[in-house]
Amino acid sequence: MYCLARINSRRSFYIFILCTTMVTVTWFHQGPWFQNVYLYMQSNTELASSTSGENTAILRALHPIMTSLNWTRNRKSIGALKIKEHTEALKPCLSSSEIPKVRIDPRKNKTTLARVNAEIFGSMVRKVRHAAGTANKSLPSILMKRRSIQKAASSIDQTISKMNLAVDVDDYRVLPGGHWIPLSCRPLWKVAIVVGFRNRFQHLPIFLRHIVPLLKRQKLEFSIFISEQRNNLLFNKAMVMNIGFIEAMEFNDFDCVVFHDVDHLAMNVRNYYGCENMPKHFESGEPKWNWKLPYQELFGGAVGVTTSQFVEINGFPNVYWGWGGEDDDFYNRVVANGFKPSRPEGEIGYFDTIEHNSKDSSRLNIAKFCLQKQCAERMSTDGLSNLKYEPPTIELHPLYTNISVNIQRLPWNPKWKRCDTLDTMYSL
Ligand code: UDP
Ligand code: MN
Repeated sequence: MYCLARINSRRSFYIFILCTTMVTVTWFHQGPWFQNVYLYMQSNTELASSTSGENTAILRALHPIMTSLNWTRNRKSIGALKIKEHTEALKPCLSSSEIPKVRIDPRKNKTTLARVNAEIFGSMVRKVRHAAGTANKSLPSILMKRRSIQKAASSIDQTISKMNLAVDVDDYRVLPGGHWIPLSCRPLWKVAIVVGFRNRFQHLPIFLRHIVPLLKRQKLEFSIFISEQRNNLLFNKAMVMNIGFIEAMEFNDFDCVVFHDVDHLAMNVRNYYGCENMPKHFESGEPKWNWKLPYQELFGGAVGVTTSQFVEINGFPNVYWGWGGEDDDFYNRVVANGFKPSRPEGEIGYFDTIEHNSKDSSRLNIAKFCLQKQCAERMSTDGLSNLKYEPPTIELHPLYTNISVNIQRLPWNPKWKRCDTLDTMYSL
């Protein structure tokens, strides 16, 4: 403004040139705050499909200036494309056999999300927090657009990337919501970590503090989704994990998904979270079982499948309310679909667990034995195929994406045999 005011004065012509040069230098070298404001306004206005209003007027005025400076959203997209081409030209990241066998002693002492953010993002923490805040403001309109025109819209991560909200941390690019993309090599897997969750806020920061550095050491592309049941019905971990999977795919085309308990901490860097030899159970033992497993078919704690395998299996069963049974049912589905699950051997697959009271677990599912008996007959009709839920509340945090959903029981298919105990259980 000062520059424009002075241009009327002939003697101030040189001042004008000086000011313009200063603005340009600031523009290109001193952090892109002005570009951010412009891109943010542009994306908000587009997303809300608004044709009038303050934003649009300012944008119209700014547009010729931005175009002449060759800094429009198109240019940003081209920039993003270049990064992608660049990544594709890179050598592939470490394969699982190249990952060092390094034992980790998990830190299980209490901490807070704020401390973990500071520890993981270091000097970038404020920038990352701000990016998440900005992205959250646009998220409702991004979701609305995506829900109304479905797959025709860009994925949520694509839209967010175009808003110039990614922050580079170490050799990773981080998008709001905790999506980490390696910059120095081409990742072999794009992994969605999905955690079934309710009211375990004491475990969440401990889990994040542990798993994020581990996945970074494995040079994977990854994003963490906390899929939360938001009501007081019995906990249905399987159903919230199904929902976590569906919602994660709205963010990006993940090719590998790992379903993880929030209180499980892998103890070896070599325990690779990419999807080879899938489906996979990541665990070979934990201290409370004297570093063994109670039974060989155990398929809980941390399990992984490729996206296409999970769809083929029809996801997890939705009928398990309360503690237990859904993991064995899932194992039966995996085997019945002709897959041979794998598991790391010995100390590579050791997990430590964060202690909690048994009262923190959900109530025992008294119908589980009955439900498991009819696992085969329900397999193709209960899972992703019949899943229905009201739109979840989604919130982007620096280290994770929270998907919070008020799940309800689904209609009982008349073809499924009823379990005597089921009605009693539902009325609890
Ligand atoms: N869980 C949760 N809230 C609950 C119960 C379970 O978030 O009220 C999730 C959490 O991820 C936990 C997992 O489900 O790690 C397995 O439940 P739990 O720890 O109770 O089972 P355990 O393996 O200890 O018997
Ligand atoms: Mn537990």
